[in-house]
Amino acid sequence: MKFVTLPTLRKFGQKVGVRMAFEFKDVEKKWQDNWKQSGMFDVNPEEMEDKYYILVMFPYPSGDRLHMGHWYQYGLMDSWARYQRLQGKQVYFPMGFDAFGLPAENYAIKHGVHPDISTTKNVNYMKEQFQKMGVSYHFDGNVDTSKPSYYKWTQWVFSTLYKNGLAQKKEAPVNWCLSCQTVLANEQVQEGECERCGSEVEQRNLSQWFFQITKYADRLLNNLESLDWPSKTVAMQNNWIGKSTGAQIQFAIKGHEKSFEVFTTRPDTLFGVTYVTFAPEHPWCLNLPLMSKGLRLKNTSKKPKR
Ligand SMILES: [Zn+2]
Repeated sequence: MKFVTLPTLRKFGQKVGVRMAFEFKDVEKKWQDNWKQSGMFDVNPEEMEDKYYILVMFPYPSGDRLHMGHWYQYGLMDSWARYQRLQGKQVYFPMGFDAFGLPAENYAIKHGVHPDISTTKNVNYMKEQFQKMGVSYHFDGNVDTSKPSYYKWTQWVFSTLYKNGLAQKKEAPVNWCLSCQTVLANEQVQEGECERCGSEVEQRNLSQWFFQITKYADRLLNNLESLDWPSKTVAMQNNWIGKSTGAQIQFAIKGHEKSFEVFTTRPDTLFGVTYVTFAPEHPWCLNLPLMSKGLRLKNTSKKPKR
């Protein structure tokens, strides 16, 4: 099959005096039906030889449809999958939907529908859009993270971490909307107000689960060396792992029984310390009488509300 570009077609049309247009609706439908019927993208990874696995980041079905920005990202990987097939590889290229969480919940609240109903509807619509875009996904391999068949594995991962002492609960500040009675992500707070209802957002200490990924920092850092990634990406990963070496220093308070601990990467500069400041959300700042003796209070930032 020979492909001709659009300008070539136009030129050819002028020369022979006929009007030629690229009937993309017909051409695309013809080939998309053909791919669907022949099942050329449906593969069973267990029976494949010369396997090639491609997985892209899943879209959120929080809006009800895909837009051009999605294809800007997914189009490239679809071309890559097709290129690998032409190289003789058997490509397993499934797709999924990151469908469980705050964005899906917000969409459901906004439209007054049960999240399972709105999410399933959005996922089906987006699947149809993907098919019309002519993507070469193995659609039967679809993952929908809001379905119990998927999140039972999230629960399994959590219980495994918990049983091995790698998950622990502690208090940490979060954005809290009094009117919606929910925690908000930083992106959902617009100039101190809730993006959804416009009420003022406050910082509140809530008990949350934390995973001890720091225990794996060395292994993650060592494995980075074996990756053939651009140096910029490796640097970003390094910063994300964020390992720093230093010491925990105990500070005593003059005339007070309490002491506090500080982490520093430069214990050699301690002789130059003239004062120590506390973050406004530190429990000591929320409990002012404790600070009356030996500590001086200087309010330099807006106090969080309780
Ligand atoms: Zn709100």
